[in-house]
This record gives sequence, structure tokens and C-alpha cells, in this order.
Amino acid sequence: KKKGKDQYAFFEPSMRESFQRHLEMEADLRRAVLRHEFELRFQPIVRLATNEISGLEALVRWQHPERGMIPPLDFIPLAEETGMIVPIGEWVLREACRQAARWNRQRDPDKPLTVSVNLSAVQLDRPDLPDVVDRALADSGLPAHRLVIELTESLLVDHRQETLERLNTIKALGVRLAIDDFGTGYSSLAYLRRFPVDIIKIDKSFVDDVGDVPAAAALTLGIIQLGQALQLSTVAEGIEDAGQLSELADGNCELGQGYYFAEPLTTEAMQDLLFPIDPH
Ligand code: C2E
Ligand code: MG
Ligand code: MG
Ligand code: MG
Repeated sequence: KKKGKDQYAFFEPSMRESFQRHLEMEADLRRAVLRHEFELRFQPIVRLATNEISGLEALVRWQHPERGMIPPLDFIPLAEETGMIVPIGEWVLREACRQAARWNRQRDPDKPLTVSVNLSAVQLDRPDLPDVVDRALADSGLPAHRLVIELTESLLVDHRQETLERLNTIKALGVRLAIDDFGTGYSSLAYLRRFPVDIIKIDKSFVDDVGDVPAAAALTLGIIQLGQALQLSTVAEGIEDAGQLSELADGNCELGQGYYFAEPLTTEAMQDLLFPIDPH
């Protein structure tokens, strides 16, 4: 008890407050998992040559009972720290597969959608990840090659041998892997060689300047060509205007995603976009 008092002396009131908030948020997060307070948004990924929707990225949101909608960047770090990302991530994966399989049953069988799911390093550290993925596919009926798992470069930085083996096991199921936010890490090219990647998602920071900064355009077109040389698909992230789009399409970027096409949509809004009701 004496020691406990001394330990508190380390805390400034402001630190204590933020520590308190942290604990509350952690308790909130545990409750959120039990009460299913998470929702998915779906953002279309468009084939630039034809303007058709080729896939969707599933993006998680936390519908907090008092604080309203909390974006992923505001709770995923804590979810990773506390391990809560494991049940949350599994729910995201299962829900995304289930929804995509449902939409594909409604769609023209010649135009199936792929669904992309973001994975955290903490999930990748778990030996049961390949089983979790396999079960999500089996239970939903989504073919493995319709699932894309998105990994960030930071996740790949301090990977261990088991990480690589786990990714290979998941690849062997038929699932495809994408490097998210490509170009923001500091040895992106090394990862392309080391990891069994199928798709490069070019970070929004490159795409932002593509319409008006010649050097940015040259760099982005260079990444697209690199992708082509390695027979990888390229996705441009964060396309916001027609100028960027035409530059990217001219550069033969295969796919694009961004507010110019659509923001991340609720399941209902995506349903309406995919299956517009014909008024006639
Ligand atoms: P990300 O995977 O790179 O996802 C793209 C982010 O860019 C999304 O933000 C999306 O809403 C946003 N975005 C898309 N197009 C545009 C655009 O034209 N302009 C702008 N300004 N933004 C655009 P969001 O949904 O807030 O997600 C942020 C990040 O949180 C994601 O980045 C991803 O790293 C992470 N995240 C989201 N859902 C999950 C999840 O289920 N699990 C994990 N581990 N991470 C997730
Ligand atoms: Mg992503
Ligand atoms: Mg990204
Ligand atoms: Mg990002």
C-alpha cells in the first residue's frame, strides 16, 4: 500500500486523466465486442478501363452508444494493444465474407465481386489465423480467390519466419494478398520480393498529387509499371477528382478507389448501388 502511493506520485493529473480514459475505453471496447457494436462500411473498387465495380473494401466502424460513430484509427491501436483486435478482426472477416457471398449470389455470375479485408499484425501473430480464414470462407461459401487480405508495410517490417509461413498457408487456400498504403514504408521494394503479394495498393499520398505535380505523376506511373512488370494488380487509393482518374487510367492503373467513385457505404447503401431498383 505504501508503495502504491509512491507509484501514483509519478502521475501528473493530466497523465492520470488520460490513463483513466484509456481504462474506460478499454472496458468500453470489451463491452462493444460482447454487444456487437461494430459495423462495416463497404467502399467500391472500380476497374478503371470499364468503370465497373470489381470489388469492395470492408472498413470497420464502432457505433459507440454514447459517443456515436468512432472511426477505425481512433480505436484500432487500443484494440491491438489489448488483443481485442482478435475477436473484432475475426468478426470483420466473417461478416465481410458473408456479405460478399450474399451479393455474389444476387449478382450476374459472370461478374463476381471480390472483398478486401484489412488485417492487423496482432492477428497475423496468431497461429490459428489460417484456420480462422478457412472457416470464414467455408461458412460463407465465398470462394477463396474472391477474398483479398490487405497488409500494411509496417506490419511486414518486423515479421518473423512464422509470419511468412502463415501468409503462405493462407495463400495456399487461394486467398490473395495486397500491400496496403504502398510506398509509405521505407523499403517497399524489399517486401515485394519477400512476400507472396498479388496486389499493390498505391497510397493516397501519391494519388493526391497525380493531377498537378509532374514528379508525383511520374512516381505513381512508375509504381504502376513496376506492378505490371511483376504481374501484380495495381489499385490507386483515394481518387478524389476526374483529373487524377484520367491520369491514372492513361497510365494503365488497373483499379481505383476513392470518394470520386463513392465513400465507404453502409450495407444498405451498397445494396442500392449494386442492385438499383428499376422504377419501370
Ligand atoms: P486503409 O485500409 O488504407 O483504408 C482506406 C481509408 O481511406 C479508409 O479510411 C477510407 O475511408 C479512406 N478513403 C477512401 N477513399 C478516400 C478518398 O478519396 N479520400 C479520403 N480522404 N479518404 C479516403 P477509414 O475507413 O477511416 O480507415 C482507416 C484505416 O483503418 C484503414 O486504412 C485501415 O488501415 C484501418 N482499418 C479499417 N478497417 C479495419 C479493419 O477492419 N481491421 C483493421 N485491422 N484495420 C482497419
Ligand atoms: Mg486497406
Ligand atoms: Mg490504404
Ligand atoms: Mg491508410
